[in-house]
Amino acid sequence: MPEHRFDEFDEIDTQILVILSENPRMPYQKLSRRLADEAAEMRRLLVRGGVIVDDLLDDFVSYSVVRTHLTECLGERRDPSPACDWEEDRIDQLDAYAVDEAADALRSLANKGKLSAGGELQASLSFEVTCSACGVSVPFDEALQAEGFCDCS
Ligand SMILES: [Zn+2]
Repeated sequence: MPEHRFDEFDEIDTQILVILSENPRMPYQKLSRRLADEAAEMRRLLVRGGVIVDDLLDDFVSYSVVRTHLTECLGERRDPSPACDWEEDRIDQLDAYAVDEAADALRSLANKGKLSAGGELQASLSFEVTCSACGVSVPFDEALQAEGFCDCS
């Protein structure tokens, strides 16, 4: 039986790092498309190496099987995840991403001579939170600090 090398799996991790180092703000969809291409390439490599890929995939156990074994059979308990404020991070990421994309568009407009200013063109963006009942709009940061921002509730 020929000996198979599975170093290729490390290459997927490496590939993710390479892609993200080129563009740390690559949208998840784009990244997963790139990885799907990598996976297809890896399947071709494995098939060429004589691996029956479908059999190999059948040999992997799923996350839920492992979890059931740990919790039901071995009685292990997982510590609950610590509470985290993901919401502010999400807004910050969106903000950074949108500003980055807008900056690209501004650079392009400047190169085409369609937009100019005395200095460099800079994009900025601010999220606002609006109450649908009274129509009051407040910048996200202020709304978060105030924990509420209109009197109509
Ligand atoms: Zn209101």
